[in-house]
Amino acid sequence: MRLFVAAELPEAVLDALVETQAALRDAVRGRYVAPDSLHLTLAFLGEVPAARVDEVASALELVCAGQAPFEVHLGTLGSFGRRRSAVLWQSVEGGSALSSLAASVRRELENATFSFDEKPFLAHVTLMRAADLTHGELPMPQMARGVLDTVTLFKSDLTGPRPIYEPLHTVTLGER
Ligand code: ATP
Ligand code: MG
Repeated sequence: MRLFVAAELPEAVLDALVETQAALRDAVRGRYVAPDSLHLTLAFLGEVPAARVDEVASALELVCAGQAPFEVHLGTLGSFGRRRSAVLWQSVEGGSALSSLAASVRRELENATFSFDEKPFLAHVTLMRAADLTHGELPMPQMARGVLDTVTLFKSDLTGPRPIYEPLHTVTLGER
């Protein structure tokens, strides 16, 4: 199954992201990520045998017990890919706590002999895909802050008209 590990975002941050999407609707054509699918990917594992899900879950338990919840806030808009069909995202700022969370998740997955996408971690929440950025100006994004305390292992199902992310295992930072 296709797996990824993501941080779940505080309510105030999610609300702001949805507001940013609403402001974008007038300016940019593309496919919007559904509000209940907005997330911050920490590590993308790709295909993993179903029998190894428990091992991934244990790795996450190990990491998250060792890190306390911390504050994050939203930043700027950015994009990946071609201007005519881009991935449009909003950055998330969480200082060294966020980068060290991503690094320890990745290190623990590596220790458990999983492989994952090794692109350097760039903390962002995808808002739109296939976004046409060739005309119009981007609006100012909404800002918000909140406490990040939840990391989830998701299964991604891409067989339907839109991706479906199913939570398989959720851990709370600073708890065992
Ligand atoms: P679709 O691929 O249909 O546009 P999606 O990208 O949301 O949907 P997945 O491809 O399963 O669904 O990706 C799940 C999460 O992992 C998303 O946050 C995505 O940005 C991220 N992701 C996917 N592929 C990679 C990769 N190669 N490297 C890093 N992150 C990735
Ligand atoms: Mg994808």
